Amino acid sequence: MEKRIIFATGNQDKMKEIHMILQDLGMPVYSMKEVGIDIDIVEDGTTFEENALIKASAIAKLLPDDIVLADDSGLEIDYLNKEPGIYSARYAGKDTSYDIKNRMLLQRLEGVPDEKRTARFVCAVAAVFPDGTVETVKGTIEGRIGHEIVGENGFGYDPIFYLPEYGCTTAEMDPEKKNELSHRGNALRAMRKIMEQKGKCE
Ligand code: IMP
Repeated sequence: MEKRIIFATGNQDKMKEIHMILQDLGMPVYSMKEVGIDIDIVEDGTTFEENALIKASAIAKLLPDDIVLADDSGLEIDYLNKEPGIYSARYAGKDTSYDIKNRMLLQRLEGVPDEKRTARFVCAVAAVFPDGTVETVKGTIEGRIGHEIVGENGFGYDPIFYLPEYGCTTAEMDPEKKNELSHRGNALRAMRKIMEQKGKCE
């Protein structure tokens, strides 16, 4: 049977990034929805890695012949003691729009000077392999919180995540450029290396 990679997410924006990075691995990549799985997984871990592994393990139980990947990501703002962190998707309520979430964060940072607005996106990727082995990796991208909502690309907190060395937010960046630099890109590339190594050993 042809090996498949199943990514435990229903998020189309993430799937676009994932396809771009894993497309030439020689294995088809599907989202869990594309293979007919639509379950809610309770992410009750205390770290990004734990939550990624909780998701991957839950799906791997249903798909024991596939390589199952999952990620957990979020925004850490140093001035807010790393909030919203693992609660990024649920910040101010999970159904609250990102326009509102972003405005609330900007408000909480009102008057805070640039040097204290440091922040990072973090992404943990976990993999469960058909032989039962498990791997987790973590990627980050450092930046700071801007002063306004800028840019139409990307998703989530991208319009307030400013990269000083590029002079723009990740929402103003070309998606391919964002992938080259991003937390998810870095974590997925690290996981890709692990999968390539494992492939050589089989
Ligand atoms: P997850 O789907 O549980 O990993 O939640 C990710 C949360 O972090 C969501 O609120 C996203 O909006 C936010 N997030 C993660 N990665 C990014 C990114 O690349 N840009 C903007 N927001 C992100």
